[in-house]
Amino acid sequence: MKSSRLLLALLAFGAITASAQEKVLNLYSARHYQTDEALYANFTRQTGIRINRIEAKEDELLERIRNEGANSPADIFLTVDAARLAKADELGLFAAVKSKTLEQRIPASLRSPDWFAFSTRARVIVANKDTVKAGDVQNYEDLASPKLKGKVCSRSGSHPYNISLMAALIAHMGEAKAEEWARGVVANFARAPKGGDTDQIKSVAAGECGVAVSNSYYLARLLRSEKPEDRRMMERVSIIWPNQNSFGTHINISGGGMLKTAPNKESAVKFLEYLASDDAQRYFADGNNEWPAVASVVVKNPALEAMGKFKADSLPVATLAKNAVAAQRIYDRAGWK
Ligand code: FE
Repeated sequence: MKSSRLLLALLAFGAITASAQEKVLNLYSARHYQTDEALYANFTRQTGIRINRIEAKEDELLERIRNEGANSPADIFLTVDAARLAKADELGLFAAVKSKTLEQRIPASLRSPDWFAFSTRARVIVANKDTVKAGDVQNYEDLASPKLKGKVCSRSGSHPYNISLMAALIAHMGEAKAEEWARGVVANFARAPKGGDTDQIKSVAAGECGVAVSNSYYLARLLRSEKPEDRRMMERVSIIWPNQNSFGTHINISGGGMLKTAPNKESAVKFLEYLASDDAQRYFADGNNEWPAVASVVVKNPALEAMGKFKADSLPVATLAKNAVAAQRIYDRAGWK
């Protein structure tokens, strides 16, 4: 038995020396886009750091990191939506990252001390061209107008995309007005909330709903779709950039941060800096039809170009994160299930 124990010890020693030579990065990601493969391969090519990637749903990954505790192998947590990053932050999972590169490249409104946004998306209004008059919906506020009685469709009020939208409205109009708005929208519902953003777009195109809100990349995806029925569907809806004469269209982000328990901190910071590089920004944004967080990076994307230019809300994403809990409470009180 002694010799087999020795063999195990030798094997263990072998494993340790191998890992000491090879630099790795353990990435927990809630992004699942095929184009991200090229993004990660490019990092390994540039730095020699191998990426071990675990992909799962946001909540599963957060649960896993918490369960793994101090022994977690995770270096980086990547996800979408400020509300979700706020949740990870609130759980105390992120470590503060000081990096000149990140400070210079990522605008201050798109980062917190603990996490960074790498791409942005807009939450726009889609309307059925036949059943909703163009002038009737120009702002988020209009979704609560009696003119749209029985015409508004929505996904759940508990979904992070809607939580972050509410968080922005709280910042702009205060909690009381934001709650009044939520009650007005609920009173206008065509049906109980269900489905994702793409389902809302489909229902608007089919005429089951008059208006809905959706993240911009779902619209871009349908506009760029190879299926003719998707493109035909898009001909039946108009895309409205809300609040162009006031605070601008609500913007959310995709981003990530380094975990407090990260075993490979140097690789982790390198990876975050890489995500802010020109190359990575293009992969990161164009792969999912988003806009780069780094202002100087130009993305050539026909669908985004077709959607046009717009005034984006300049609210810092950290504010969205801060208002997330109040936002959920308002949806609950307003009965936006
Ligand atoms: Fe999404």
